[in-house]
Amino acid sequence: MTFSLHGQAVSPGIAIGRAHLVSNAILEVAHYQLRERDIITELARFDKAVTTAGAELDALRSEASVPGAPAELSAFVDVHAMILADPTLSEGVRELIRERRCNAEWALVQQMQLVVDQFDEFEDAYLRERKQDIVQVVERVLKVLQGKARKIARRKASADDDLIVVANDLSPADTIQFKNLKIGGFVTDLGGSTSHTAIVARSLAIPAVVGMQHARPLIQDDDLLIVDGTRGALIVDPDLGVLQEYRLRKAELELERSKLRRLIGARAQSLDGEDVELHANIELPQDTERAREVGADGVGLFRTEFLFMNRDDLPDEDEQFEAYRAVVKAMGDKPVTIRTLDIGADKDARALRKRAGNRLSPNPALGLRAIRFCLAEPQLFLVQLRAILRASHYGKVRLLIPMLAHAQEIEQTLSLIELARLQLCDARQKVSRVEIGGMIEIPAAALSLGPFLRKLDFLSIGTNDLIQYTLAIDRTDDAVAHLYDPLHPAVLKLMAQTIQSAQRVLMPVAVCGEMAGDPRLTRLLLGMGLRQFSMHPAQLLEVKQQVMMADTAQLGLRVAKLLKLDEPDKIAEQLEKL
Ligand code: PEP
Ligand code: MG
Repeated sequence: MTFSLHGQAVSPGIAIGRAHLVSNAILEVAHYQLRERDIITELARFDKAVTTAGAELDALRSEASVPGAPAELSAFVDVHAMILADPTLSEGVRELIRERRCNAEWALVQQMQLVVDQFDEFEDAYLRERKQDIVQVVERVLKVLQGKARKIARRKASADDDLIVVANDLSPADTIQFKNLKIGGFVTDLGGSTSHTAIVARSLAIPAVVGMQHARPLIQDDDLLIVDGTRGALIVDPDLGVLQEYRLRKAELELERSKLRRLIGARAQSLDGEDVELHANIELPQDTERAREVGADGVGLFRTEFLFMNRDDLPDEDEQFEAYRAVVKAMGDKPVTIRTLDIGADKDARALRKRAGNRLSPNPALGLRAIRFCLAEPQLFLVQLRAILRASHYGKVRLLIPMLAHAQEIEQTLSLIELARLQLCDARQKVSRVEIGGMIEIPAAALSLGPFLRKLDFLSIGTNDLIQYTLAIDRTDDAVAHLYDPLHPAVLKLMAQTIQSAQRVLMPVAVCGEMAGDPRLTRLLLGMGLRQFSMHPAQLLEVKQQVMMADTAQLGLRVAKLLKLDEPDKIAEQLEKL
């Protein structure tokens, strides 16, 4: 049956392909209705999964009987085998499958919840804790049940058709792994448009829609899907007419994209002769390939925190140095802006969390994130600083510091950079001159630029966080995503003031947030006086096209008028007219 869902368009384009459901929690399962005639097969599938899980436990039991094996292993295997054999769990599941005509995975999780809730009532703490064993047994059976789906995913990942990931939520760490897979697009039920997950989707240039609310429970593995990443729509099981229309639109988009490639060698110059620099944002060293392909003027933002994700250890100085040097060498004589670790908020690294004792910040976006974390962990920060300084010997490196708000944070950071330099000199390592810049992404920084202008070499405006912190909107929360407004007059004023103040003292200033890569906003930013943009390579040519059609002098006058407005409707109207 065809149906469509809507969410937030975060990465444009069209993907047509088969659904691949992923769970960040194994217990998050799909729920679907069975046809009457499929009930017997589903019961048999469940029974078979229980038998396989039992056989796995038997295999574990023989391992447990080997001399030297831990005694707890045998005890836990016995408890798990007992739970698996207990009819309370399996009979309840069978009944649910029969009566509610639901899939085995869902029935199993429902029955587990029922049993676990009863355990919560027990007075005896030991018995109460046994509920964890029940969860583990259920996970074992679920893994067997879902094994088939995983095999399908592997087969499809290697085939030519698009694979569309459907998830309740994806972390930036999950999404960055798509760089090594052939993923056609993705949709999630949660998430905001400038969450790092959405940013990674744009960097992969794959269509994506987030904040869909109900996609995960309504879609089944292998459903045919159309993701319209431009309009924020997902069409499930489309009929032939719709499918053909989208195939046509997809082909048109591809044609438009290939036409844009003609601009690769062209100079990014406005009609009135203003040169504009267009740099690339990257997450991993391999992204330099795309940056070079589209002719970027350099790397304007290397989000180094992605090197720290999806691993249990921390990259040491040599490993980091190799990664930074690879980027610097790949970019030749073009500048590479390496941003120091911006971990925290939605960007999570297991090894760092473990180091902090797995302590959860009550409000991570306002907590020990980015430079605050680095200054609290100077030894770890020095490792990164040394690695970056060592890479400077191989090209033109600029060092960018995220989330600065206080003058003393600038001072402390500069002292640590100096210390790292001295340590390298003592070790007779070669280091070249490195420009040091600060991100303007907290309103306090934009409103008190003095120390930034006096102590640093350049500025880069991080509009993603500047909007988040100015409007008090969590950029990852779909519940408030409608209030996340890049055109809010307060945001525009902070940006315009920062650009003007920097230019008054001849300090280079860039925008590296998502606004810089949105071609609908290029004229606005040019009118504010911006001449350095940094964005994902996939967006660069469209922005260049806008630059080449713009008259910056005229835009300057119009944008000055727009900045005096304080009503969103009027601002939007003026933006249309720019
Ligand atoms: C920003 O905040 O605009 C920015 C570029 O940094 P990030 O998106 O990595 O927080
Ligand atoms: Mg930021």
